[in-house]
Amino acid sequence: MSLREQLCEYGRRAVELGLVIGTSGNLSVRDADRVAVTPSGAALDRLTPEMCPIVDMAGRLVAGDLRPSSETPMHLAIYETTDARAVVHTHSVFGTVVATTMAELPPVHYNALMLGGMDGVVKVAEYATYGTPELAANVRAALEGRRAALMANHGGVTVGATLEEAFEATRLLEWLCEVYVRGLGVGRPAILTKEQLAAVVERTLNPPDFPRL
Ligand SMILES: [Zn+2]
Repeated sequence: MSLREQLCEYGRRAVELGLVIGTSGNLSVRDADRVAVTPSGAALDRLTPEMCPIVDMAGRLVAGDLRPSSETPMHLAIYETTDARAVVHTHSVFGTVVATTMAELPPVHYNALMLGGMDGVVKVAEYATYGTPELAANVRAALEGRRAALMANHGGVTVGATLEEAFEATRLLEWLCEVYVRGLGVGRPAILTKEQLAAVVERTLNPPDFPRL
């Protein structure tokens, strides 16, 4: 699948899964020094490959007629300092709830480790106006050493080696936020300790042998 076709595919899935409504949210995928990004103001489930702009690492339009997403500076800032090859940004409901009420998402489930931070925490990037270099810098700081961040009063962002990986990280982030928010409605969610998280890492690195006949 071409970079642009991937944007169409995952844009459609993002809308189908309710991670994105209307024209909110944007995706990008990188190959060498070219980045295909979703266009500004277009519904993500109605994209065609030609609609998706391709920009260089400085944000200059290389192909396409539509304006690149207003959040393109944030995508490029992430590519500039990480080895990410794809970025997914949404305003998903539970991610945004956490991003508007908390300073971080604590580790309530061990799957949070899949988002990169050894402490299982997802940080909330400080608020700044959408599309600004300031927001890009805040997100980059919150993402350091991690594959996911929340953006205060805004939404969430995930990265991956492929668009599929970044997309799955967005699904996981939303699931973790939902579990925590719903948990707060039922009682006081227990937070995993450093030791409990370290034991998960240890077990993942050294899985037990399974018995064979
Ligand atoms: Zn946004």
